[in-house]
Amino acid sequence: MKFSILADSFHKMEGTRKRLELTQFLVELFEKTPNEVISKIVYLIQGKLRPDFEGIELGVAEKIAMRSISKSSGIAMKKIEEEYRKNGDIGHAASIILEQKTQMTFLVEDITVERVYETLFRISNLEGSRSQDMKMKYISSLLNDATSLEASYILKILLGSLRLGIAENTVMDALAITFSGDKNNRKILQHAYNVSSDLGKVAETIATDGIKGIKKFEIVLFNPIRPMLADRVKSEEEAIEKFGNEFAAEYKLDGERVQLHIKGKEVVLFSRSLENISSYYPDIIEKIPENIQAENIILEAEAVAINENTGEFLPFQELMHRRRKYKIEKAVTQYPITVNLFDILYCNGKSCLELSYKERREKMEKYVKEDNFTKYIPMGIITNKNEIEDFMENSINAGSEGLMLKMLDKSYQAGSRGSHWLKLKREYQNDLGDSLDLVVIGGFFGKGRRTGNYGTLLLATYDEDEDTFTSICKVGTGFSDENLDQIYQILSPQVTIKKNPRITSEMEADVWFEPELVIEVVASEITLSPIHKAAMDKIRTDAGLALRFPKFTGKIRIEKIAEDASTNEEVIALYKGQKKVAHEKNLI
Ligand code: AMP
Repeated sequence: MKFSILADSFHKMEGTRKRLELTQFLVELFEKTPNEVISKIVYLIQGKLRPDFEGIELGVAEKIAMRSISKSSGIAMKKIEEEYRKNGDIGHAASIILEQKTQMTFLVEDITVERVYETLFRISNLEGSRSQDMKMKYISSLLNDATSLEASYILKILLGSLRLGIAENTVMDALAITFSGDKNNRKILQHAYNVSSDLGKVAETIATDGIKGIKKFEIVLFNPIRPMLADRVKSEEEAIEKFGNEFAAEYKLDGERVQLHIKGKEVVLFSRSLENISSYYPDIIEKIPENIQAENIILEAEAVAINENTGEFLPFQELMHRRRKYKIEKAVTQYPITVNLFDILYCNGKSCLELSYKERREKMEKYVKEDNFTKYIPMGIITNKNEIEDFMENSINAGSEGLMLKMLDKSYQAGSRGSHWLKLKREYQNDLGDSLDLVVIGGFFGKGRRTGNYGTLLLATYDEDEDTFTSICKVGTGFSDENLDQIYQILSPQVTIKKNPRITSEMEADVWFEPELVIEVVASEITLSPIHKAAMDKIRTDAGLALRFPKFTGKIRIEKIAEDASTNEEVIALYKGQKKVAHEKNLI
C-alpha cells in the first residue's frame, strides 16, 4: 500500500476535530487498505507501532531527526533548526526544507506503508553505541524517497508528535461501518478490544473474518484486559439505595492496581493503564507462582506497601520508591509490599469474565493459596446499614481508604465504569465529598522558595465526547518542597513549544505540558466560571465549571493515564449534587 494514501488521509484528518468527519475519513482510508496492512495502519494512526502494553518506544531525539533531514537534503543544520524554531513542528519544518532540496534526488521508488512501518520498527529496536548513527541512516534513507508531505508525517510519528486526536471509539466506529456496514456493531468490537487491549488485532480480525470472527474473540494470556472501574457514592445510605440489601464489601486499599498473568513460573504484571510493570515488582514475580494451583491464571490485586513490623498498610506514595530502573532489589527490601487479590479474570484456559462476582471470588480462593505475602482482600457480605458501618470502621482501622462495594450476581465488565461496583471513601476530605484526579496541562514559574520550580499548575478534566482536556483550575497549595521537586522532574521533559491541540484553555500558562501527568486535588466547591472550559455551556451558556480553593492532596497518580482523569460528566454530577445538598440544607 502506498504511503502517500496514508499521508493524504493524515493531512485531511489534521484539518478537523469533528468526530463524524474523522470517522468518514477513516472509513475512506480503511476501504483502500489491504487486510495485511490494516493493523499497521491502525497503530500508525495512533502514533504507535504496536499496542501500548508491549512498551515499544521509538525514542528518536529531535537532534537526530534534524540531522537526518540535513543529511538527506544537503541543507545545513542551522537552517533546519531555524525553520523548526519558527513554528515548533518538526514535521512541518521538514516539509518546507525538503521542498527546497538542494541535492537533487530522483524519486526511485514509491514508499509503501510496509516499508515505513518496518523501518520504524527497526529503529525502535536499535540500542547501544552505534544506534544513533544507524537511526540517522534509516531515517534519511526514508526521507530520500519521500515527498515533502510524506516526510512530515514520518517525522511526526518518529518524534511522537502526530496528534490527530482520534479516540479509540472513533476508530471502532469506522471499522464497524467499513467491515459490517453497521455502526451499531461497535459494541461487539468494543468487547473484543476490552479483552485484548489491542486495536490493531481487532481491526485485522474484522477485516479478515468479519463480525463472526470478532464474536469469537478470546482472552489471550499475557495480553492485558482493560480493567473494570467503579462509580462513586457519598454515603452508606446511597450505597444501600443503589444496591438493595445484599452485596459484597471489600477494603479499598490505597496501593497500585496490578493485573497478574501467570503460567508456571512465567509472570507478567500490568498496571491499571496496561503498562508492563513487571520490573518494579521482582518480589511478586518470584513468589506468586508458589501460590497458584492452576495451569494458567489472570488475577487482579492491589499491591500495597506495608510496615513490616506491624503489618499495617502504608499509603500509595511509598510505592513510588520502586519506580526506578536500577537498584530495584534495594527498594524491594526497604519498601516491602503485600499482594491483595480481589478478582480472577481467566483460569485454566477459560475466561471468568462472564461468571458472577460470587463465583469469581470462590474460584479465586480455590485456585490461589494465601500466605503472608499473597492474600485475599478482606471481604464481607453486607445486609444492612450497621454491617456496612462496622466493615467501614474495620477497614479504616487497618489503614484502608474506604470500601469497594460489589454486586454479588454481576459479571466482570472489562473496560467500563459500570454501576456494579461502587467506591465509598470514608473521609470526606472536602465539601465536595470526593477528590478529583486532574491532568496537569500548564505551569507557572514559582517565586521565592519555589524559584526554579513550577509553583502553580494549570489543571484539566477529561472531556470524553470531544476527547480533549478542559481547564478547570489553577492549583498552588498543598505542595511540599519534595512534591515540587518530584513534579518538576516529571514535567520538565513534557514541556511543549506549542499548546497540544487537545488542550482547551483560555488561560495563558508560562509553559504548556503534554497532557500526561495526573494529580489528585480536593476543593471546597465547584462554581460557574467565565474563564475555565470544563463542562462549557453544559450548565449555563458561555460558562464553564471551576474548582474553588483547590488543594493538592500529595498524591501523584502515576498509575493513571490522562484519559483516566475525572471527566466533565463526573464534575457536572458533583456540581448538581452540591446544589442538591445546599437546597436541602436551606429547607431545614
Ligand atoms: P479510584 O482510583 O479512586 O477510581 O479507585 C479505583 C481503584 O481502587 C482501583 O483501580 C484499584 O486500584 C483500587 N482498589 C483498592 N481496593 C480495591 C478493591 N477491593 N477492588 C477493586 N479495586 C480496588
